[in-house]
Amino acid sequence: MPAETHRHRVSMILSVALCLIFTPRFASTQAGATPKLSVHWEELTAADFREGIHRSQGTCLLPFGILEKHGPHLPLGTDLLDVRYTALHAAEQEYAVVFPEYYFGQIAEAKHEPGTMAYSRSLQLALLQETTDEMARNGCKKILIVNGHGGNEHLLPYFAQSQLDKPHDYVVYVFDERSPDHGGPPKKTKIDMHAGESETSKMMVSRPDLVHMDRASSESGADQARQKLPQGVYTGIWWYTRFPNHYSGDGSAATKELGEYQMNWWIDSVVKAIKAVKADDVSLKMQNEFYEKSTHQLETQP
Ligand SMILES: [Zn+2]
Repeated sequence: MPAETHRHRVSMILSVALCLIFTPRFASTQAGATPKLSVHWEELTAADFREGIHRSQGTCLLPFGILEKHGPHLPLGTDLLDVRYTALHAAEQEYAVVFPEYYFGQIAEAKHEPGTMAYSRSLQLALLQETTDEMARNGCKKILIVNGHGGNEHLLPYFAQSQLDKPHDYVVYVFDERSPDHGGPPKKTKIDMHAGESETSKMMVSRPDLVHMDRASSESGADQARQKLPQGVYTGIWWYTRFPNHYSGDGSAATKELGEYQMNWWIDSVVKAIKAVKADDVSLKMQNEFYEKSTHQLETQP
């Protein structure tokens, strides 16, 4: 049998087998109707989970939050609540399985504030690796980490890059944007990095019951600019030197209109990211090629 015909036959058998494995078994569903499937990992039965992985084409979201002070007026879980609100709404529009609450990231700089959960560096990386490994073992071959916390901005690209150290049969994608650069209702404040106008506005959409607007001006979120170093020189204490109250900006400037604009932008952006990740057939192929070459570099490279 010519190799091409043989390959064709093997792929036919494989696709029939896959269809059999992934055919949903919903006795009560009318023919043709797609049964509603929760996007929450923890709400699916084992059999529905298998259908969820099939429907999402192996694309799973890992919304990444944190527990830390958010000014005098927002809850400790602000980043966790907002990123889950966004990821869940996005997955409803473009189906993906969403991992449960995850908040084990980098937040050493808030250890002086009550309620901060700051895990060690080694545990952050080990837990994240085991989490994505276990997700992949369950069929999540494309893991999109949606970051809700600014303090993870170095951790997550480092984690993604370090996936090249040894072969993995899945790809880690990181989406780390939360607010648009421009557009929407004009903003009233210039400094707006933490629990300020934008973040407070978003929380007015995701969990308005947890916004204590009457307390928003009880502490200062002004930039104290105490460190005198040239741009490009980095220290870990930079945040504390500028915003020791773990408040950057002025939450009292927040409005629901700004929150709606920013939340919709964030959800749309995650929907676009899910679609792009589903369509991406390059990354895993390149990863495998890279792993292969990196173990035979003397033979494969000029
Ligand atoms: Zn935050």
